[in-house]
Amino acid sequence: MSPEEFRRQGHAAIDWIADYWASLDDLPVRAQVQPGDVRRLLPASAQEDAEPFDAVLGDLDRVVVPGLTHWQHPRFFAYFPANSSPAAILGDLLSSGVGAQGMIWATSPAVTEVEQVVLDWLAEALGLPEAFRSDGPGGGVIQDTASTATFTALLAALHRASGGAARLSGVGDVPWRVYGSTQAHSSLVKAAMMAGLGEDAVRGIATDPVTQTVDVEALRAAIVADVEAGLRPVMVHVAAGSTSTGAMDDIAAVAEVVREWGVWLHVDAAWAGVAAVCPEHRDHLAGVEAADSFVTNPHKWLLTTFDCSTFWVRDRAALTGALSILPEYLRNAATESGEVVDYRDWHPQLGRRFRAIKLWAVLRTYGLSGLREHIRSGVELARHVADLVADDDRFEMVTEPALSLVVFRLRAGDGQTLAAMEAVNASGEAYLSHTTVGGRAAIRLAVGSWRTTRADVDRTWRALQRAAAQV
Ligand code: PLP
Repeated sequence: MSPEEFRRQGHAAIDWIADYWASLDDLPVRAQVQPGDVRRLLPASAQEDAEPFDAVLGDLDRVVVPGLTHWQHPRFFAYFPANSSPAAILGDLLSSGVGAQGMIWATSPAVTEVEQVVLDWLAEALGLPEAFRSDGPGGGVIQDTASTATFTALLAALHRASGGAARLSGVGDVPWRVYGSTQAHSSLVKAAMMAGLGEDAVRGIATDPVTQTVDVEALRAAIVADVEAGLRPVMVHVAAGSTSTGAMDDIAAVAEVVREWGVWLHVDAAWAGVAAVCPEHRDHLAGVEAADSFVTNPHKWLLTTFDCSTFWVRDRAALTGALSILPEYLRNAATESGEVVDYRDWHPQLGRRFRAIKLWAVLRTYGLSGLREHIRSGVELARHVADLVADDDRFEMVTEPALSLVVFRLRAGDGQTLAAMEAVNASGEAYLSHTTVGGRAAIRLAVGSWRTTRADVDRTWRALQRAAAQV
């Protein structure tokens, strides 16, 4: 592709994205294809001869769009949002255009230093402890996902608790134990599996039946019992906004418990953490000053195109102690000087993209005021949904609304609840997801798209009411 052709096709690609967004309102939110439908539209092998890029763009509409669930659709309310935004997309494109590898400071100093500064900005904007800033012993890094961040936290915790033995000889037969509530995200168990501890090393602590938050006394009792039995507690995971219902564990109370044993405290605020840009939505992070590590995903609710998971640690030495490795081919004067951060020591992989550009673009073009407006609108729309639920006798709330997440069900029962949700999803009008709470089915409606309006919420609610009348 010549430079001139690149310019022309670049404009066409941006036009395609703008047209795609404009068309979303009329498209079914959930993909309507059956398994194999997309594959069948593709040739079995790559072609021998070159084609112009227009052919790829053309096939997006023919092959890809029908097989997409439209996460940027204004009536996408399933799971948690993976919201994007024009600024983030342009930032991501620029990152691809620059094509720099930021594995160590020396391979592109700007990749590291912009990331450090942007994460310091975000830490300040979220009211996170000063200890997490890059000018002290801690610091932040952009990971691909919260799952990787939690895995990385566990590796650092093992390094600290084993006095460095884990990196030398592995976890061996040491009976490490990891704690989280039964509502902790599955990435905690996966982290234990990947770290070689095994699923059974994770203790699922009971939760309060109403709030779904961790029972702190049960946590204390589990740790005491394990210590007495000769087991080795290594990390406690706190959910500051659980996936199922948005439950907010009491970080300060859990911190009191872990302090006695010097166990690593990891706060998983993957979805709800970014809400703290609004001072009035910070209560769920009370006690975070005691955390050893903290993760939140701007790629969920802060308008930053996937992937962008921001992870901070209080003491970066635990991370780099666990993960640093310096082969000859990466040796350089800057690293030897000790004056720079080499992010390859902060996560499992070596190579890394310039993800900070998109977050930088989001922070600058929205400004903190614009980001607060976005979060507040999600919370307000969720309250509106809760009012709609309260006004219709056929429905009931399952838990209190948590920020922009509403969990409710049909009083008629689980079958009816799931059938009504499926009817709405199948219609393509909106997309919702489900969970179980206390053994009973519930519908989750998570607001958060940058394109959702009150009219979209009302239209979704009417679709649910129609479905409820039919099940
Ligand atoms: N933690 C919580 C509380 C989540 O809700 C999620 C995903 O929804 C995750 C972790 C995993 O996020 P990621 O997809 O970034 O790994």
